[in-house]
Amino acid sequence: MDRIRRQIVVRGIVQGVGFRPFVYRIASELGLAGFVINRSDAVRIEVEGTAEGVAEFERKLRGEAPPLAVILEISAAPIPAQSEAGFRIAASETEAGASTPIPPDIATCDDCLREMFDPHDRRYLYPFLNCTNCGPRFTIIRAVPYDRPATTMVDFPMCEECAHEYHDPANRRFHAQPTACPRCGPRVWFRATSAPRSEVALGAKAIDACRAALAGGEVIAIKGIGGFHLACDAGNASAVRLLRERKGRHDKPLAIMVPNVTAARRWTNISTTEEAVLSSPRRPIVLLRKNDSGDGPAEEVAPGQAHLGLMLPYAPLHHLLIGDRPLVMTSGNLSEEPIARDNKEAIERLSRLADGFLMHDRGIHAVCDDSVVRVFRGAELPIRRARGYTPFPVVLDTEPRPILAVGGELKATLCVTKGSNAYLSQHIGDMANLETMQAFECALQHLGSLFRTAPTTVACDLHPGYLSTQWAHRYAQAKKTSLVPVQHHHAHIASVMAEHGLTNDDRVIGVAWDGTGYGTDGTIWGGEFLVAGYGDFERVGYLRPIPLPGGDAAIKRPYRSALAHLFAAGVEWSPDLPCVTACPPEELRILRHQIERDLNCVPCTSMGRLFDALASLTGICQNASYEAQPAMELEARAGSSSSSGYDSAVDGDFPLILDPKRLLESVIADLRAGREHEAIAGKIHTTVAGWLTNACCRIRDRRGLDSVALSGGTFQNVLLLEQAVARLEKEGFRVLVHRLVPPNDGGLALGQVAIAAARNA
Ligand code: ZN
Ligand code: ZN
Ligand code: FE
Repeated sequence: MDRIRRQIVVRGIVQGVGFRPFVYRIASELGLAGFVINRSDAVRIEVEGTAEGVAEFERKLRGEAPPLAVILEISAAPIPAQSEAGFRIAASETEAGASTPIPPDIATCDDCLREMFDPHDRRYLYPFLNCTNCGPRFTIIRAVPYDRPATTMVDFPMCEECAHEYHDPANRRFHAQPTACPRCGPRVWFRATSAPRSEVALGAKAIDACRAALAGGEVIAIKGIGGFHLACDAGNASAVRLLRERKGRHDKPLAIMVPNVTAARRWTNISTTEEAVLSSPRRPIVLLRKNDSGDGPAEEVAPGQAHLGLMLPYAPLHHLLIGDRPLVMTSGNLSEEPIARDNKEAIERLSRLADGFLMHDRGIHAVCDDSVVRVFRGAELPIRRARGYTPFPVVLDTEPRPILAVGGELKATLCVTKGSNAYLSQHIGDMANLETMQAFECALQHLGSLFRTAPTTVACDLHPGYLSTQWAHRYAQAKKTSLVPVQHHHAHIASVMAEHGLTNDDRVIGVAWDGTGYGTDGTIWGGEFLVAGYGDFERVGYLRPIPLPGGDAAIKRPYRSALAHLFAAGVEWSPDLPCVTACPPEELRILRHQIERDLNCVPCTSMGRLFDALASLTGICQNASYEAQPAMELEARAGSSSSSGYDSAVDGDFPLILDPKRLLESVIADLRAGREHEAIAGKIHTTVAGWLTNACCRIRDRRGLDSVALSGGTFQNVLLLEQAVARLEKEGFRVLVHRLVPPNDGGLALGQVAIAAARNA
C-alpha cells in the first residue's frame, strides 16, 4: 500500500501540557512512523503511514488533545515519504526570535493526589509530586523551549526510577519536566523563627511541626508555587489579629484556603458556576457571598464584608497541611510590597512577621500571587490576574510590531506583544516603591525571555507623576523606541474592546468609571462617558466635577469627598450629617476655607470619590485603610436585592453632565426620615445604574452606537454591574464586560497595547 508523509505544525499552548506524549501515543496506536519535536514557536510533527492512518491521526490531534492544551492553529502539508520505521520524540530545537505560548501553573490533579495519599506508593506524602497534567510551569520556566534544563528543576537530576517514567511513553510522567520523587526531588523543612539554624524538622516531621504551630495560633511563612504566604488558623481571632498587626494590614479582607468545596458551602452561598471556578485547575481565590448560618471564620478575616475570598489547596504541600482546618493564606509581604520569593529574601523580610518558616528548595523563577475572581452571570470577572492565568495571551485582532505597555500605578501589570498575542504579566503590585519597580523589571525580563520579544514601541499612561510613565520615558530614550502616551480611561475602554476581539473599525460607547486617572486637561477624571475606538476617543459625558482638596487625603478619609460633593451641590454642611460629624472641627474649618477659596483643589469627576462620598454621607464608612474600601462596604450593605432608585434622569446638552445633587438630597432626606442603611445603599446602586443607562441612551440617540463597553475599577462592584447590564440589555444595547483581564488598573496595559497597535498601524 502507498505510504504518505505529512508535516503538521501546531501552535498554541502545546508545551508543558503533555502534548508530545499525547502525539506519540496516538501515532503509535495508529502504527504511524515519524517524529514530534518542540520548537521555540510551535510543535512540529511529521507522520508517515497509510492515507487513512494519517487522516485519523489528524482527526485525533484536533479532537483528543490533553486537557491543558489550547490549540490556536494547525497547519499541515504533504512531504515526500521516507520509509522511516517507528515514531519518536526528537530533542527540542531552539530558534532565535521564535516563541510559543507557555502554560500557567496548574493545581495538583486527582491522579497525583491519589498517589500522594497511597501508603504503598513511592511518592506517599511527597509534597512535590506532579505529572504532565499538573504542577508548576510559568513560575519555574526560565527560558524556552520548555525542557527541564530551562527550569528551576535543573538542580534536581532525576533518579533512575523517575528517569524511567520520564522516558516511558506509556507513563503519565512521560516528559513531565518538573517530575520528582522523595529520592531525587526537592525537600521541605520547618524551622521556628527563634530557633537556631541547626534545629530544623525535615519531610513529614516538617509538615507536622507546621501544623502544630498553626494550631497553636502562630503565624507561619509558607513557601508555595509563586512565592511565600503568611498563614494562620482562620478560626482563631487572636491569630488573625496578630497577623494583621504584623503585616500592617488593618481592614482589608484576607483570603482563606478551605480544605474542600463542602467547607466553602458551609460558609457561603455558592452557585454551581462558583463551585466550578473554585475547583478549576487554575484555583483562583473566588469572592463568595457569606450565608446567614452564623458559622464562618473569625470576623477579623473580612470585617464589614458581605463576601469571603476562598480558595482550595492547589499544591501538594497545601493538601498535606490543611487537614480540616481552614487557613488564612495571604501574600508573604508587608502591605504594598511585592511577595517574597527566595528563601534568603523571605527570612530577611518575613522574620519579624512569622513565628516559623515552612520552606523548600525548589526555586521560584517568577513570583506570582494568587489570582482573585468574582463570578458574574455565569462566568469569571477577574479582579487580580496572576497564578493559573498568566501567561495566557489575549489574542488581538491585529498583528502589530512588538509593543511593551507599562500600565498605570496601582495594581500594576505590564503587557508585551508577539505577533497577535498580547501577554499580560502577573499582578505586580502598587508601583510606589523601589521593590515594586524591581519586580516590574523582573516580570518584563521574564516575559521578554519567554516570548523573545524586543519592543519597538512603548505605551504608558499620560500621568507625568506615575513611576511607570517615567520609566517608559527613560526606556524609550535608552532603547530608541517610539513612545505612545495613552489617556487612562481610553485605555480602560480599549482593554475590554480588545478582550472581545473588536477591530480597528469598531466604535463603542465606553463607560469608564474608576477612582482616579489623569485627564487630557490635567484634571482628575473617573466618571467618564467616551465615544471610543482604538485610534481615538471623544469625551461625551462625565460626572459633575467637584473641587477635591489635597487628593490623597480624600482617599483615606472619605468624608472629605462627601463634604466636597455637598459643597459642589450647594447642600449645607449641617451637623446632623454623619460626614460632618466624622470630620474633626479643625479639619472642617480648613476644608471650608480651602474649598471656598479653591486653594490646592483639583477638579475631579471620579465615580470612586462619589461612592466614597455616599458611603460617608450614609455613615457606613468614614476611614479607608485600603483602596475602594468605602465602595465595597456600600455594596456589602446594599445586599443582593434590587430596590427602586431615586430620580436618575440625565438632562442638559452635550457633553452630558451627571449631576449628583438630587441623589445627595434624596439620600439626606431618607437619612433624616430614619430609613435603614441597607435600603439607602440599595437605592444608591439602582440610581447610579439608571444614570448610566439613561446617559447611554442619549449618546445612542446622538451617535447611533449600540455597543456599550464597561470598564474601570467601579465595575468590580457586581451589584452595580448586574443592574447596569440588565438595564442596558433591556434597552437593546450589546454590553461588553471584562472576562479575561480585570476592570481595574490591572487591565490597563492591555488597553494601552491595543491603542498603540492602532496608532502604529
Ligand atoms: Zn498530576
Ligand atoms: Zn526520583
Ligand atoms: Fe483606572
